[in-house]
Amino acid sequence: MPIDATKPYDESNIFARILRGELPAETVYEDEHALAFHDINPLAAVHILVIPKGAYVSWDDFSDRATEAEIAGFVRAVGKVARDQGVVVQGYRLLANIGKRAGQEVGHLHVHIFGGQPLGPMLAR
Ligand code: 5GP
Repeated sequence: MPIDATKPYDESNIFARILRGELPAETVYEDEHALAFHDINPLAAVHILVIPKGAYVSWDDFSDRATEAEIAGFVRAVGKVARDQGVVVQGYRLLANIGKRAGQEVGHLHVHIFGGQPLGPMLAR
């Protein structure tokens, strides 16, 4: 069931629980501002999720309320994880679903990194 990205942050969401260490994750990168881990249901040969450490529901919330340091730290982390995964030369895709029509399932901002294979068209018609 997609979330309503205009609702307040819910501390019980799955990624908040991963950040608190209450649920396991296959972490590939962590720093002051971001955590990156494998998606539990990978849709490509490389499918990593990168999340900010702060409590932001979505890209909309993050871009509105996050500090400059949080935004810079998160953007740099996404780029670094992609480089570390070796997907830059062949190319990769970033995706952030925001709210109901995009089908966002977890109410903590996450950017998907897809790569490691041809990725096809941007959207199915
Ligand atoms: P969304 O549809 O919100 O953009 O993507 C949510 C993603 O989170 C999905 O790709 C889903 O497979 C992934 N996911 C859901 N629960 C978990 C979990 O407990 N652990 C991990 N690593 N990924 C999860």
